[in-house]
Amino acid sequence: MGVYVHIPFCAQKCNYCDFHSVVVGDEESFLAVADNYLLSLRQEALYYREKWGNRPLRTLFIGGGTPSLLPPDKLGAALLFLKETLPFSQEPEITMEANPHSLTLEGAEILRKAGVNRVSLGVQAFQDELLAVIGRIHRAGDVAGSVAALRGAGITNINLDLIFGLPGQTENDWAETLESALALQPSHLSCYGLILEEGTPLERWVSTGLLEVPSDDEQATMYERASSILKAAGYEHYEISNFCRPGFRSQHNLLYWKNEPFIGLGSGATGYVKGLRYKNAPDVQDYLATWKQGTPYYAESALVPLEQEMDETMMVGMRLLEGVKEAWFRRRYQVSYWDLYGEAIRDLLKRGLVDYSEGYLQVTERGLFLENQVSSAFLR
Ligand code: SF4
Repeated sequence: MGVYVHIPFCAQKCNYCDFHSVVVGDEESFLAVADNYLLSLRQEALYYREKWGNRPLRTLFIGGGTPSLLPPDKLGAALLFLKETLPFSQEPEITMEANPHSLTLEGAEILRKAGVNRVSLGVQAFQDELLAVIGRIHRAGDVAGSVAALRGAGITNINLDLIFGLPGQTENDWAETLESALALQPSHLSCYGLILEEGTPLERWVSTGLLEVPSDDEQATMYERASSILKAAGYEHYEISNFCRPGFRSQHNLLYWKNEPFIGLGSGATGYVKGLRYKNAPDVQDYLATWKQGTPYYAESALVPLEQEMDETMMVGMRLLEGVKEAWFRRRYQVSYWDLYGEAIRDLLKRGLVDYSEGYLQVTERGLFLENQVSSAFLR
């Protein structure tokens, strides 16, 4: 169980991004908004302290947006407040997302002292032309300096986010990106296929023929190459899009893949507390106004019925390559998944999309490419 904190500020909007984030203006007004925002986060944390009770929180993930845009001393102070206010366990995993251009050794040291022990860097590609097309603000040459700054500050658990299927990206570009990432020896790598989100500039450029993305076959080859290159380099492929050195799985993301409760703080954040799944309204000004009143303002909220929770547990659990353990599911819900989804599972087995061995139901190599079909089979 953990906490997700959303920091919705970015230096510029990337061309493929539909996450909730606003582009910051001049420094003075940004700092004023940032102060108010961090104050609201504190109020929201106090609100959930009451609701949550004493169950220990083992992870904290500060995502965005670009959390590394905030002045490190202000973010560090907010972090210390959260650690004092909410019932964190001893030595929780505390991850912060960062952009390579906005990290300094001094800032990393402040954040490490405040408890950050894992950083996820939005690298995406190691070719400047590709970074320019997708609208990233950093350049490939910034990445090594950021990694060095993190290590210099004592943060050695580092994830690099990479994207394949970018417009104009060749298979060789992708292999070069993987090799450049490996040269930095990160403990974790996330390899996502580009999703053309409706309403983004990139989606418009591709749909009007201005840009072309690699074909499905080419993207499948890129994915296979990621898996083979990273496995050969000693990384464990443990989730559809995620690889790590032994012992460095993302504890926070495991929480999502196990469908466990978590507190979500910040505008646009989602949370799952005592069966209530909620999404805060994705508007910074609304968020600030709301916490002046001391109550949440949800864009969506609903109590998740048990049946739905079980379906979701199977759907997200099948993203893990080890699969879902039958005994674990039965212990959690007092019923076997064979009794609930027997017909769907037998169909998936027949189609070669899943395997059942030693008490685990897991995707096959073929199922990895058709993950949507696997997960939707558990939706009753
Ligand atoms: S930095 Fe991340 S959150 Fe911000 S615009 Fe780019 S992709 Fe979106």
